[in-house]
Amino acid sequence: MSPGPVVAAIDIGGTKTAAALVHDGQVLARAQAPTPVDADGATVLQQAAALVNALRADSPLAPVAFGAAVAGVVDGAGVVHAATGAIGGWDGTAVTASLTALLGLPGRSVNDVHAFVLGETAYGSAAGLRDVVGIAVGTGIGGGVVSGGRLITGSRGAAGHLGHIPVAQAAGLPCPCGAPGHLEAVASGPAMAARYAAQSDVPVQPGSAALPEAIDRRGAVTLPDVVAAARAGDALAVAVLAEAGAALGAVIGGLINTFDPAAVVVGGGAAVPELLAAAVPAAHAAAMPIRSDVPVLATALDADAALLGAAAVALEPQ
Ligand SMILES: [Zn+2]
Repeated sequence: MSPGPVVAAIDIGGTKTAAALVHDGQVLARAQAPTPVDADGATVLQQAAALVNALRADSPLAPVAFGAAVAGVVDGAGVVHAATGAIGGWDGTAVTASLTALLGLPGRSVNDVHAFVLGETAYGSAAGLRDVVGIAVGTGIGGGVVSGGRLITGSRGAAGHLGHIPVAQAAGLPCPCGAPGHLEAVASGPAMAARYAAQSDVPVQPGSAALPEAIDRRGAVTLPDVVAAARAGDALAVAVLAEAGAALGAVIGGLINTFDPAAVVVGGGAAVPELLAAAVPAAHAAAMPIRSDVPVLATALDADAALLGAAAVALEPQ
C-alpha cells in the first residue's frame, strides 16, 4: 500500500457541504451538513471547517493539507468570483485563506466542476490519463480540460464553461448565462424538462403559464419525469433526450478536435443513460476521423468526484 499522506477534502455546494479524510483516493471518514446558504461566506466556511475538525478529532491519522471544491469561479489566490446566487455573500469570499486559518493547514481551492474533472483524472474513469475533457451535466453544464496533466484554468479561472458553446439545436433559445444558443439551453436537466413540458400538454405550475418562453416552465416537469416517460415509450420524451444528446455529442466532438484528449468523461446528475446513448455516436461523428475513436466514458466516482478532486488538489505543490 502506498504511504501517501492523509488529506482533508471539502466540497461546498449550493445544497450541502461534504467533508472527508482521504488517503490515496479512498475516503477514510466523511461527514456532511446542509450548506447555510442564507448566512454569509464566513459562516459557510466555519461550518466546513467544523466538519473537518470533527473528523480529525475522531481519527488517528492527521491530515497534512486540505483541498476545497467550491461553487463559483475560483482565482489563483483561492478567492471566489462570479459566484452563483445559491450561497448568500459567497462572491468575493477568500476561501483558501480563510480555511487555512480555520484549519491550521496549508491547502488549495478549486471550482467544483474543475474538481470533478480532477477527481476523475486522479482516481476515476480517466485515472492515469494526462489529457482529459470532463463535462458535468446537471442543473447547468460545466466542465474542465486537463492538458498534459494540468487543468486549464484560463486567465481568470473561468476556463471550462463547456455548457456555453453554441449548438445548432439551441439556436435562438435563451441560455441562463444571458447569451442565446448555448448547449446548456437544451441539454441541462431543467432545459430538457422544460423542452418536454413546452411541447406536450403537461400542465404547468400555477403562475408560470403566463410566461411565454419554454425555459420558464421548467418547474412543471422534472428530468426524472422525462426519463420515465421515455422508458415508457413516449415519443416526445425520447426525442427531447435524443436531441439534447446530439447537441452534447456535437460539443464533445468539437472538444475532441480541439484538445486531442485520451478520453472524455461525462458525469453529473442529469447525465442519464439516454443522454449518453445519443451523445456518444454524435461525438464520434463530429470528431475528425483520425480521432473518432476517443472513448466517451461515464463517471466512475459519481457524487464523490468533486470531493476526491479536492483531495487531489490538496496534494499539489503549494
Ligand atoms: Zn450560456
